[in-house]
Formats: sequence, structure tokens, C-alpha cells
Amino acid sequence: IYADVEKGPAIEVFALTEAFKNDTHPNKVNLSVGAYRTDTGVPWVLPVVRKTEISIASDVSSNHEYLPVTGLDTFTKAATELVLGADSPAIKENRAFGVQTISGTGALRVAADFLHTQLKRNVVYYSNPTWENHHKIFSDAGFTTLKSYRYWDQSKRQLDFKNMVADLNEAPPGAVIILHACAHNPTGIDPTQDQWKELATLMEKKKLFPLFDSAYQGFASGDPDRDAWAVRYFVQQGFELFTCQSFAKNFGLYCERAGNLTVVQQHGATKAAVHSQLTLLIRGQYSNPPAYGARIVSKVLNTPELRTEWMQCIQSMSSRIREMRTALRDKLVTLGTPGNWDHIVNQIGMFSYTGLNESQVRVLINEFHIYLLKTGRINMCGLNTGNIEYVAKAIHAAVTG
Ligand code: PLP
Repeated sequence: IYADVEKGPAIEVFALTEAFKNDTHPNKVNLSVGAYRTDTGVPWVLPVVRKTEISIASDVSSNHEYLPVTGLDTFTKAATELVLGADSPAIKENRAFGVQTISGTGALRVAADFLHTQLKRNVVYYSNPTWENHHKIFSDAGFTTLKSYRYWDQSKRQLDFKNMVADLNEAPPGAVIILHACAHNPTGIDPTQDQWKELATLMEKKKLFPLFDSAYQGFASGDPDRDAWAVRYFVQQGFELFTCQSFAKNFGLYCERAGNLTVVQQHGATKAAVHSQLTLLIRGQYSNPPAYGARIVSKVLNTPELRTEWMQCIQSMSSRIREMRTALRDKLVTLGTPGNWDHIVNQIGMFSYTGLNESQVRVLINEFHIYLLKTGRINMCGLNTGNIEYVAKAIHAAVTG
């Protein structure tokens, strides 16, 4: 009965990581996968996370009972406050709430299913380029019109705001618009505050539904409030919206799948019905979420001393990334690599959209054993003081060769 199943295409980022693992070259570098690495090139368990897991594990009163379908209450409250701000009018007026999800991906999927089944939405717009899973999540959820809006100007290596606005102007009323809350993946370029304001005005006028994908809050700038500016601005303007939060990057909890879908409504009166439908959706998908990561995030965010330690951790990750941006740009300038490389330092977050083309990427992979996506996106965290010289020289060779 399985004979007619066709083999699906490989998922690029996982295929590259596999190829990297199998590569025996001593200077190999993995710049593809979206996970933090220390300056010695290894994954980092945030010290505050390690300390918290030890304290949770040694609490003999804890157990492994099921969580409620919509997750751990102390976690969803803390996550909702983290993104909207504890003093958000939407929280104070009981117009906002969160449900726990299987990390950011799960939040997007639950959001997409709810929008499709309950609000009958079929049209979604995402940026071009975007995180490659947006298309699949919304198409699997049943959306029939999946369109992109222009976002990246390849020649200037900056935001193509004029065309972004032009494309969103064409979207039909009710269309779901996926916006990256901060640290746009893959370009690392966000709208300015004035541009966000213009987008809000346009989306209000055209009755478009904002869905913020927030996978890098705090990780991007080291300041969670700053990284949530756009979401909070839209809430202030009175939008009803969704925010899909991931705690993979900012807590280093990649495999623990801690996420939150924040729902902002105009009136608290709709909460009971919306919450009940989200509960039923989750019940049918996976019944209830895992507790481990959510317990850690909840304890850290709800304990002032631990929260301060966490802030120090995100500052240390984001500043290491900024140092690598400057170091890479400076090395390319010193080598005299043709082109302007300032975009590397102007971008924010985990990734840099280098502007390298597919054939240059092939040279880096095949000749230098440096693994990156074919779009030229690199994970800045894969760079460190030990490999940056090698990578810069390889980019120089790929560009000039
Ligand atoms: N959204 C964006 C833009 C991302 O970059 C990612 C992860 O790379 C996610 C969502 C989902 O992450 P996760 O499901 O691991 O929380």
C-alpha cells in the first residue's frame, strides 16, 4: 500500500547540516542552521536555564501529570506579558491572552488553523524572502491563496519598502499578513519605526489581519522591549492580532518546543469563545503541550533575580553576534573584496543575507567546506574568532574567482 508514495524533496537546512556532519575537512564551518553557537563553536545552555532545570528537577513535589490543553498558565501569562509589555492596556483590560504551543512553528500552525476554520480566511501574504516554513504551514492548514509581498532589494541590499507597501495595497480585505516582529529571517532587515507606522495605517485602512511571527525577541537586540516595539505599536493602534512566540532562540530551548500564541482582541467578551475553539483545535492535534521548556521559561520570567540573569544572557548572545558582524565586514574591507559589505553590520539578529549568489555559495560549500543556504543566508553565530579569517578569505575567493 505504500508503493505509490513519492519521495519528497529534502529540507535544505537539515540536508546541509547532515552534509556538514559527514564532512571530514578540518576547517569545515556550518553557517546554515539557525541555532546559537559560542565563540568556541558549541551550543550554549544558558547558565540561568541550567540552574533553573536543576532546581525544577530537584523539586520532589513536581510530577509528570498532563498540562491543561492550552498549557501552563504561569507560562502563557508571562509570555503574553513579555511580548505585549506588562502594562499593556490589552492585558489590563483583559483583551489579551495566550495559549501554549509547540514552539513558534506550533503557534503558527494553530494560528493558521484557527484563522482558516473559524474566521474563514484563505489568503495569506508573507515577505519575499521569508522563513521557508511559512508557506508550508499555511498551505497545510488549507489556505488557498498564498502570496508574497516584496521585501528585499537585492541590488541595494536593503528593505524594498516602496514595493512592500505597493504589494500590501493590493491585498484583499481580511488577508492575513505575516510580519516578522523583529530580526527578519532571512534578511536581518526590519522596517524603521516610521515605516511600521505607515504599515499600520495601510493595514488598518485595508482591513488586513496582522500576524506577528516573534522568534527572536530579546535575542535580536538584547532588549526584549525594544524587539517588541512593532507588536506593541499595532496593539496601541487598536488592532486585533496574533503573535506567535518562540522561546527556542532567546532561551536556547530549541528542542524543548516552548511557544505561545498571543491573541489580542478588541473586547474581552470574545475571549471565552476564541479560547474554547483554540482548545478544541489543540485537543485534536496533540491534546496538550510538553511541560519541560515552559516550566523553565515560566520560572525564569516570574522570578526577578533569574529574569535579570536571563537578560544578561541575551545581551551576551546579541553582543557576540554584533562583534562577528563587525569583524566579518572589516575583514572583507581589508581584503579588498569587491562590493559594499556594510549591510552585514546594518542587519540585526541571527542571520545575514550576504548577497552572495548561488554559484558563489557553491564555491564556498564545495571548495571551502563552508555550509550556507543557497540564498546566501548565513547564521552569524556560526562565526567565531577561530574561523572568521578563513570564512572571510573564502568569501573573497568566491567573489573574485
Ligand atoms: N519563525 C521564524 C521567523 C523562525 O526563524 C523560526 C525558527 O527558525 C520559527 C518561526 C520557529 O521556530 P521554532 O518552531 O523552533 O520555535
